[in-house]
Amino acid sequence: MSFDVTLLGTGAAVPSLSRGTTAQFVNIHQRHILIDCGEATQIQMRKFKVKFQKVDLILISHLHGDHVFGLAGLISTMQLLGRTTQLRIIGPKGIKSFLLQQFEHVGLYRGFPIHFDEIEEGASGLVFEDRLLEISTFPLNHRIQTQGYRISEKPGKRQLNKEEFDKYDVSVSYINKLLDGEDIEDNEGKIVRSDDVTFPPKPTKSYAFCSDTAYHPPIIEQLKDVDLLYHEATFIDKEAERASETYHTTAKQAATIALKANAKRLILGHFSARYQSTDMHLAEAKTIFEQTFCPEDGERFIL
Ligand SMILES: [Zn+2]
Ligand SMILES: [Zn+2]
Repeated sequence: MSFDVTLLGTGAAVPSLSRGTTAQFVNIHQRHILIDCGEATQIQMRKFKVKFQKVDLILISHLHGDHVFGLAGLISTMQLLGRTTQLRIIGPKGIKSFLLQQFEHVGLYRGFPIHFDEIEEGASGLVFEDRLLEISTFPLNHRIQTQGYRISEKPGKRQLNKEEFDKYDVSVSYINKLLDGEDIEDNEGKIVRSDDVTFPPKPTKSYAFCSDTAYHPPIIEQLKDVDLLYHEATFIDKEAERASETYHTTAKQAATIALKANAKRLILGHFSARYQSTDMHLAEAKTIFEQTFCPEDGERFIL
């Protein structure tokens, strides 16, 4: 079982030699999710050894170019390399026509199905779930419709405490009920409490992605107790005014969101190309939230 996030691109709108535009790869229990797909994401994936044919789900935050200009190229390469399995794309309204029009203009033949789920502006709630995980979305505050996402493990089953279980005269056919949290009666009519003979499931973990957005406290509710939070921090404090004009966030503001949400760790990103280093972002954020990280492209965080 694994749950990790690879930062494929940590720069803002202008790609540079050292930082690509936004893209992240999330590997959670053998499900492979790409979040955003800025220009040249497929090159970043090759560079950082992410197998892109494995990607089965793409989450898109918004339709600004630095988050989507890599999509058509990536899908075209998937096709050229013989992909046949379905790809699912979840994103804001307009993501489907944005892509299909490009395919139409270049005459791209697709040998594999793409399923689109478009999110209505302002919507929040569950957008994906399977046996092991669920993904919810919530609106951010940017110049066009922008969605944040939270990817959470589902609680597993309780585990049998064999030593305690063996103290009772219980048929093994009741084990599943006990693991489901039900109390039962043993063969002598004694109550066997699930809590007494099983261990609780291991705590679940979650990862949240917030980019791009102005400082927007309403999202704190959606981020409560998140284990790992990615929040954009395009600017440092000196450019706070510019941040608010352009609907972006400063490092301090991102740290405030992490603190108020009771996040465990914070990753900053979407760094403006005007900064030679992220030392100031890190120093400013740490005055508010100690567990802050300013990654380089290719860094991986394990949950
Ligand atoms: Zn944007
Ligand atoms: Zn952006």
